[in-house]
Amino acid sequence: MKCNYHTHTMRCHHAVGEDEAYIRAAIAGGFDVLGFADHAPWPYTRFVSNIRMTMDDFPDYLHSLRRLREAYRGQLELHIGLESEYFPTYADYLRRLAESGDVDYLILGAHYTDSEEFTPYVAPLCREDDGVRQYAENCIRGMETGLFRYIAHPDLFMRPRHEDDFNAACQDAARDICLCAKAQGMPIEFNLLGLQSQLTGAGRGYPSPAFWNYVKPYAGDVILGVDAHDPAQLSDTALWDEGLKRLHALGYTPVDHLTWTK
Ligand SMILES: [Zn+2]
Ligand SMILES: [Zn+2]
Repeated sequence: MKCNYHTHTMRCHHAVGEDEAYIRAAIAGGFDVLGFADHAPWPYTRFVSNIRMTMDDFPDYLHSLRRLREAYRGQLELHIGLESEYFPTYADYLRRLAESGDVDYLILGAHYTDSEEFTPYVAPLCREDDGVRQYAENCIRGMETGLFRYIAHPDLFMRPRHEDDFNAACQDAARDICLCAKAQGMPIEFNLLGLQSQLTGAGRGYPSPAFWNYVKPYAGDVILGVDAHDPAQLSDTALWDEGLKRLHALGYTPVDHLTWTK
């Protein structure tokens, strides 16, 4: 089975391509299962995020993907989820969203330590060890809610760091994130958007070989995630194959699909 559960749509303002283009590209790329997990909307009153859909966009997201799920039945199995932060400020909202049944699943993608209305993007803070600790704490609080099916880019804290800077604080963060994920039965994601950035230029610091080497004794299940913000990432079989090759070289065999009771 070839399955990807991490796909965005134009609604997040930093992805390109119509919904259907992602589906066609996934079929061209040989996928059996495609999960959409666009950046979740939040019930902001005045603040408008430029990196995620608004609450007003959410019904169209569901409607469009449900229509396509029917239209492509038999060709591609579609799941409708969201990539969500864990914002303590909006924990009640998140639980209602998860329990509403509107989406099949949530994946945890932490980019802030609380709502972006009043906390900065966490990756630049991770140049400092304190930022790494904040990132890990936020991931763990999120995973402990039990609301998430897997954790995206667990090594995001390496984004601004060199491999050589995987120090004791990074080791602690990596170990704690992976142990919590394992305890929750949540796979950790090897992120292909990050890998693509590395293959095409200076790149992001994740996926970080230092991270993946270090967490071998602590890691539970591992999964590949395309984190597609462009349909071309799904039809790019070389990117997928390179990710798989690197994981194997690191000594991991990723799960090929997710199961859930819904
Ligand atoms: Zn994104
Ligand atoms: Zn994503």
